[in-house]
Amino acid sequence: MMMNYSALKDWHNSHKESALFGRYITLNTIQPLLDNLSDLFSVETLGHSVENRPVSKITFGTGPIKVLGWSQMHGNESTTTKALFDLFKWFDTNRGESEVKKFLAEFTFTMVPMLNPDGAQAYTRINANKIDLNRDAQDCSQPESVILKELYTSLKPDYCLNLHGQRTIFGVGDPVKSATVSFLSPSQDELRTVTHSRKKGMAIISDLNQMLQEFIPDCVGRYDDGFNMNCVGDTLQHRNIPTILFEAGHFPGDYDREVTRIFMFLSLIRVFESVLLLKSEKTPSSNPYFSIPENKKCFFDYIIRNIELPEIGVTDMAIQFEETLIGNELNFVPKIAQIAELVDFKGHCEIDFESKKPLIPADFKFEIGNIIEKIQVNGKLPTTFSVKSNNLL
Ligand SMILES: [Zn+2]
Repeated sequence: MMMNYSALKDWHNSHKESALFGRYITLNTIQPLLDNLSDLFSVETLGHSVENRPVSKITFGTGPIKVLGWSQMHGNESTTTKALFDLFKWFDTNRGESEVKKFLAEFTFTMVPMLNPDGAQAYTRINANKIDLNRDAQDCSQPESVILKELYTSLKPDYCLNLHGQRTIFGVGDPVKSATVSFLSPSQDELRTVTHSRKKGMAIISDLNQMLQEFIPDCVGRYDDGFNMNCVGDTLQHRNIPTILFEAGHFPGDYDREVTRIFMFLSLIRVFESVLLLKSEKTPSSNPYFSIPENKKCFFDYIIRNIELPEIGVTDMAIQFEETLIGNELNFVPKIAQIAELVDFKGHCEIDFESKKPLIPADFKFEIGNIIEKIQVNGKLPTTFSVKSNNLL
């Protein structure tokens, strides 16, 4: 008997960790939460980042199945960090409930909520030495990589959760929809062999997909499984540890990723349920996994159709937000990303200019990379490019 995910969604709606909101989540944001976790949890510093920020793990549960998860390995991918703290709150407030007691008795959870605190502070994917930690699994050239490696070699987890976020450019299915959530059970060799441990990851992802279809039909994608031993997930899978890559993506209009946060929270709980189910299955099936459509890069934040541009004529123009930290605030800066016929692409927001010429401010050039905040054609109100005006719904 599976849990009631609609009820869990309702719980999340009214009880999620209210101290966390939006995309810019730093160590300063989560430190008070780490300091105030209840006696259900133990917090330990594993080591320090390049800029000497502490990297902590949170442990809870007393069971034999060891689950290791880490978030913000890429500093600007914060949605799963929010979901982890929602999960901690769920465990704590419901610790007297039978399902929660069961999880705590079956599992020992080890979670690293922020592996790359320097990248989180600077709002970058990379760490302070400009290294992508998810390409450093073999070299382990960075202190954060060493921390993670020491943790998984000493802990010997039964399952790993590699928690990430993805850009708004990914779509899935036909007709294409925004890839709100994507998963991968990484390969463990060049041949992409479907080994027993990979199959376990696939079975869990199939289960996650089934649960999510109820809430976000046709918006769940699967990542390309090309093998890369420099990636942490591939390395762990190579050690026969089923590893699941989570990618929190874009839900139309949700640039704060507060909607996707819910689906990450639900998915984390579903993983634990799936693992318990797998205990009784000798040969998990990988078939439903392959029926999940693959992600493709086919979205822009905006597409303006049929705009007449000087020297080019009638064409399409794509605009993409560049997430830019100004002071302590994250800004979504609209920039021209493409000028071409974009028949194979879709905008999260689309506007048809019906072959009209825009009014062009003096000195403005329609070139890729240029900031464009608004645009107007004669006799119409200007169209403003901002996260607030971008919504498919
Ligand atoms: Zn990532």
